[in-house]
Amino acid sequence: MLINVSTLLTEPVGHARRLHAERERCVVPEEKFEQEVTGDVRLIRSERGILVMATFDLAPVTLECGRCLEPFRMPLHVDFDEEYVLPRDPVTGVAPPVDAEDFLIDETRHLDLSEAVRQYEQSALPIQPVCRSDCRGLCPTCGRNLNRETCACLPVGRSDPWGPLRSLAERLQMEDGDGSPEA
Ligand SMILES: [Zn+2]
Ligand SMILES: [Zn+2]
Repeated sequence: MLINVSTLLTEPVGHARRLHAERERCVVPEEKFEQEVTGDVRLIRSERGILVMATFDLAPVTLECGRCLEPFRMPLHVDFDEEYVLPRDPVTGVAPPVDAEDFLIDETRHLDLSEAVRQYEQSALPIQPVCRSDCRGLCPTCGRNLNRETCACLPVGRSDPWGPLRSLAERLQMEDGDGSPEA
């Protein structure tokens, strides 16, 4: 997503623009990243370049549920503030101090939000994705998806140690009640 900031760069520090993005494509070929963003961007002329304040809804991403292993779609939202730095001041020609992590405004006075969107999407992704909060997952014994079907397996580690005693007790009760009523 490229934004032309050539006019804003000629304005004094503090001048701002607001723009709306509607399904704008963000592409970072080196990272095989493609995304679409919808939302608002505020651009403010700063000392070193342009301060970008963005709030975006991203196209849903496909993730694999950590419990049932089924793919599911998840909507993501990112908010970020980042300063895009001019490699060289347009008036003085002086190159400002630039960190390796700084985003740069390119030679044609455009800034590209794609890499920032990629980075913020990464941090918005859940570490342990779950398709829904009450996902029952897979049966650890037979592997059935318990969201779709049930199985007769006992929960793992919970075999019934009282099973034999219980059936003995049931048998005794039956024998007890078997006699004819006493006078
Ligand atoms: Zn699931
Ligand atoms: Zn099972």
